[in-house]
Amino acid sequence: MENNSSNFIKSIIKEDLENGKHSTVITRFPPEPNGYLHIGHAKSILINFELADDFGGRTNLRFDDTNPLKEDQEYVDSIKEDVKWLGYEWDELHFASNYFEEMYSRAVLLIKKGKAYVDDLTADEIREYRGTLTQPGKESPYRNRSAEENLELFDKMRKGEFETGSKVLRAKIDMTSPNLNLRDPVIYRVSHATHHNTGDTWCIYPMYDFAHPLEDAIEGVTHSICTTEFEDHRPLYNWVVEECEMESKPQQIEFGRLNITNTVMSKRKLKQLVDEGFVDGWDDPRMPTVSGLRRKGYTSDAIRNFVRETGVSKGYGAVDEAMLEHFAREDLKLKAPRTMGVLKPLKVVITNYPEGESEMLDAEINPEVPEMGSRQIPFGREIYIEQDDFMEDPPKKYFRLFPGNEVRLKHAYFIKCEEVIKDENGNVVELHCTYDPETKSGSGFTGRKVKGTIHWVDAANAVPAEFRLYQPLILDADLEAEKSEEEAEEKTFLDYVNEHSLEVVQGFVEPNMKDVKGQDKFQFFRHGYFNVDPKNSTPEKSVYNRIVSLKSSFKL
Ligand code: ATP
Ligand code: MG
Ligand code: MG
Repeated sequence: MENNSSNFIKSIIKEDLENGKHSTVITRFPPEPNGYLHIGHAKSILINFELADDFGGRTNLRFDDTNPLKEDQEYVDSIKEDVKWLGYEWDELHFASNYFEEMYSRAVLLIKKGKAYVDDLTADEIREYRGTLTQPGKESPYRNRSAEENLELFDKMRKGEFETGSKVLRAKIDMTSPNLNLRDPVIYRVSHATHHNTGDTWCIYPMYDFAHPLEDAIEGVTHSICTTEFEDHRPLYNWVVEECEMESKPQQIEFGRLNITNTVMSKRKLKQLVDEGFVDGWDDPRMPTVSGLRRKGYTSDAIRNFVRETGVSKGYGAVDEAMLEHFAREDLKLKAPRTMGVLKPLKVVITNYPEGESEMLDAEINPEVPEMGSRQIPFGREIYIEQDDFMEDPPKKYFRLFPGNEVRLKHAYFIKCEEVIKDENGNVVELHCTYDPETKSGSGFTGRKVKGTIHWVDAANAVPAEFRLYQPLILDADLEAEKSEEEAEEKTFLDYVNEHSLEVVQGFVEPNMKDVKGQDKFQFFRHGYFNVDPKNSTPEKSVYNRIVSLKSSFKL
């Protein structure tokens, strides 16, 4: 990764290769298919794929699907699509659920070694017995069952003879360990639930802390990269690899998770926003999901560049959302054609323009990239301008249209406001202006200057369009981003949902926009970058999602 030539994980891998601990690097991206990927996952994807790539290694995509109640094929499909769209190709595709048989036999091995036991305590009792950081745990009365009895009970668990939640298998480690994760963690639970991959074959499922190290070891993963919440789980990770006698010994390395201001980044919360109708799906452009950002108009380049800039470290302070937007602008600046769109139209009649006539004007497509050439736009007696570009009673320093004032129409002529037409309620509904043919754009006219330049669309040929303008979906979530995930989960983040996150306006675009396609991107003069919505656009009317406005005070 270009920006991370000195990142600490890379140094560890380099050393492991140099001193012969490993001869090759294998990493994995291990999402649980319980939601769509978000931009935090993009960071994990980038780190895993690019680290392996830097050393000529390989990266697997592995679905960590050990929790049947929350997982779904829809999520599996979307995750694959998003990883590919981000620009990465996995080496092998795996499902943790395909290892259930092997995991089961490793659990049996633990039982035989006296390292695991079946416990009848309830979940509440187990929690109570575990103790706290300042208080040692208490042993379960079932802790010293014989290996024979445990084998028999575990077999019955598998055969479905116990109800959901009635028995668990626990690793027998140390109830007095200062590390709570080592106080006989639960490694299997009974759950009579249908699994998206294994159906009803199983009614016991392994817990994350037991399953994950085995998955890594089975695949020969050398460096198992995860986020810092798992730092305290590392001793357990190593215990499982060791006691289950796995041949391959993966090493867990943690980095700080990505947090962004005004953004929630937990699948559980994102799912709540979807399920409770705050947004119109996982790919709503307001969502920080990969699919939402894509639909909003972010390119994978912009996302990758942003993630690279955030670097790899142990810390997890929140990154300013303006930084993400900065990378959208940077990426589109030279790629997006420029065009004009009127979001809130006001009709202007140019009274001295000959009736029934029109002309075509030449307009450059992107002044920063002359090779992109130019387009032809029609101009005639009636045009639309932006309602906000006219004020009847303007304050000082207002340089746009007002009675008696002259402005430049981008790519066209100077026009002067002569008359304001109002409806019976006093609302301005039309302006009558005059134009000066001498002032045609590109003619080299220097006779006089105007201070304002506004955009417009020819009324006779205007194409109706819908514009969707976005504000952050969540406000002040930055406070909770500072906290650990567990703490944050307790807060009702729904209190921070911004009621004004979406503004929909109806306007017009240039006639040469008639055939735009979903995901086409443009810079609308003065309004910013927009993406053609791939879902809601129709042949009659395109929907333009604003990716980002033009200006920002953000500095890198
Ligand atoms: P969430 O809390 O959003 O559900 P998760 O960690 O439970 O996230 P997984 O599906 O387990 O989601 O994540 C797959 C990988 O992505 C894990 O290795 C995880 O550490 C990593 N990951 C998840 N969120 C972030 C983040 N915000 N920044 C960096 N990596 C992340
Ligand atoms: Mg996880
Ligand atoms: Mg999760």
